Amino acid sequence: MRIAVIGTGYVGLVSGVCYAELGHQVVAVDLDERKIATLRQGEVPIHEPGLQEIMQRGMAEGRLRFTTQLAEAVEEAELVVIAVGTPPLPSGEANLAYIEQAAREIALALRGYTIVATKSTVPVGTNERIAELIGELTEHPFDVVSVPEFLREGSAVQDTFHPDRIVIGTSRERPVAQLLELHRPLTESIFVTDIRSAEMIKYASNAFLATKISFINEIANICEKVGADVTKVAHGMGYDRRIGPAFLKAGIGYGGSCFPKDTQALIQIAGNVDYEFKLLKSVVEVNKDQRLNIIRKLESAIGELSGRVVALWGLAFKPDTDDMRDAPALDIIAELRQKGAVIRAYDPIAMSNAMHIVKDTAIVWCDEAMQAVEGADALCLLTEWREFAACDWPAMRALMRQPVLIDGRNLYSAAEMAAAGFVYRSVGRSDPDGQLAGADLSARQLTR
Ligand code: NAD
Repeated sequence: MRIAVIGTGYVGLVSGVCYAELGHQVVAVDLDERKIATLRQGEVPIHEPGLQEIMQRGMAEGRLRFTTQLAEAVEEAELVVIAVGTPPLPSGEANLAYIEQAAREIALALRGYTIVATKSTVPVGTNERIAELIGELTEHPFDVVSVPEFLREGSAVQDTFHPDRIVIGTSRERPVAQLLELHRPLTESIFVTDIRSAEMIKYASNAFLATKISFINEIANICEKVGADVTKVAHGMGYDRRIGPAFLKAGIGYGGSCFPKDTQALIQIAGNVDYEFKLLKSVVEVNKDQRLNIIRKLESAIGELSGRVVALWGLAFKPDTDDMRDAPALDIIAELRQKGAVIRAYDPIAMSNAMHIVKDTAIVWCDEAMQAVEGADALCLLTEWREFAACDWPAMRALMRQPVLIDGRNLYSAAEMAAAGFVYRSVGRSDPDGQLAGADLSARQLTR
């Protein structure tokens, strides 16, 4: 199949590269000339495991190329995939300016029947609007289909080749056969539905996953007070097939380019039809607060933060990505700076993106994990990168001003840290304050 992919971000680039690997002829388009120049040299501008190798193979074997000329790519294509960004507006609503611009440009370049499939996450009704925009500008036949994307950054290639499901939203028969042909090699779980339901499936899925995270974070906060261990609670819950073990890891809250924006957008989508999505509003609220919980733990361990040196390990919103969009680390850094702490930060991959967003010359950006803890009053672990799993604790103690570790991801065990001589706080388990509260509770229960 001849495919044009519009937008070479996390979604467009991975999709285009994977389609080429499946044997299709792919032209990937972006407005960003620097990005296209980098891609043409065979370099991947994002960190995504496994992507560069298959991208270079696709280019070398003549199935994949990159251009800034949308018209040239669309003219030849049987299928045009829209994968441009839909960032949040200040109101929380999705900004559809990039989508609308792409739709207009696509319309002007159509030369015969073409399927336009939208992978970007867009509010219900947007694909119908795209069809309207295109229809106003072309006489050529076309169909607009919603094909929402569910890949996860950090495992995007694996997710693209082995998706849990593919959703195809259209009420027209003509595009379905080709889209089934494209996706059948990837999975048997293909759900063909109407366009509005497909759009809603994407938002509902992300909102549900965000809800699971906020739910387990609230359970963690209660666990700390009643002397339970959230990792064991989540493990025990996960055996129940109705619940499942995924997305029940307590921590510092969700982040990234999807959950924060998609939850806000869904609240807004509901608001636009006079429905108050109370549950999702709470999910967002809980998440905001959970990000700052780590600061409260830090203060309870070392007191006032003004003038104290705080090391941060991990800045990306999760391991294996360089994406810093709406990472919890950004709120944590802002709060630490506001409280007068001196920050020494390190991330294996996301450093330059973090520096670009934070733009704070007072932060000491470190090249190595051990460099970040030099002279620190405490270390906060914000992202559970693999390289942080094994540490030389005696060497670390020697470098730090005092051995205090606030583990925002429950990467280490309380026993390991006690043996290493660290004051240790984690999320929802083995917190000394929590144990105290738990002891109080059982004493109260006993006297009743
Ligand atoms: P991104 O910001 O990384 O990339 C978007 C790209 O589109 C940019 O390179 C931009 O220059 C380009 N672009 C914008 N307008 C263009 C135009 N008219 N012509 C050509 N190129 C244009 O975005 P992303 O993270 O890949 O997300 C894309 C969409 O997919 C969003 O709607 C997002 O919500 C959704 N999504 C993202 C993920 C994820 O993990 N990042 C997962 C599922 C769905």
